[in-house]
Amino acid sequence: MKFNCIKCGECCSNIRGRIDGDEKEFIESNFFGKMPIVQLVPVDKMSLSLWGWEADKLVERAKELGIDAEIKPFRVVFDLKENKSIVISYFLDHDNCPFLKDNECLCYEDRPLVCKQFPIQTVSLEDKPVLAKCPALKDVGVMRREEMKDYFGESYDAAVKNDSVIEWHNMKVMELIKEGKVKPVKDYPFNFLLKRVGNSEKMNFTDYILDKGIADKGEIDKIIK
Ligand code: SF4
Ligand code: SF4
Repeated sequence: MKFNCIKCGECCSNIRGRIDGDEKEFIESNFFGKMPIVQLVPVDKMSLSLWGWEADKLVERAKELGIDAEIKPFRVVFDLKENKSIVISYFLDHDNCPFLKDNECLCYEDRPLVCKQFPIQTVSLEDKPVLAKCPALKDVGVMRREEMKDYFGESYDAAVKNDSVIEWHNMKVMELIKEGKVKPVKDYPFNFLLKRVGNSEKMNFTDYILDKGIADKGEIDKIIK
């Protein structure tokens, strides 16, 4: 048995706020000034999350295709030392993905990991993947890793990759803090923080850690690949 996408386009439409349950609760209680990584967008406005290199690629594709794509910072580490926002990820500020036309993705080859892994949200937590709503999904129940890989194919590989990219970002943020290269906000009044982020210089996370010697080009290239 294999997952069979029926190409309904549902996952590319209504792209905002597609999370609920434990994940929603976790984000609401931790990402708004309590943790070093701060989310700039309320949960109901969240949409596809893009890594820096994915956002750059989509900006480029949008220009080529003449698409008006609003791609904005989604999660940042705000450094009090340099008054700088280190942008961990971006998001598409749209209700429907602007790259969807006649149920086809206009940037299919360059689509971000979050699209490639759909309908899987994560495979890192247990032997049952966390799944998004999708009309082609049957109840997959508990599966061994090999069964998951077989059932979801490329989506599974993309989910594994995305989980490892998330982990890598978290690890590098911790390294930056431990080595005193950034002084992130903690328990900061969120509205005030939003203003500071809005007025600050912004830098892509990978450029920043390259600059600070926390990763070299080879390591970053491996993650982006
Ligand atoms: S992955 Fe699911 S929601 Fe997305 S197009 Fe395929 S069937 Fe529709
Ligand atoms: S980038 Fe492509 S695959 Fe991803 S949501 Fe947009 S249209 Fe769908």
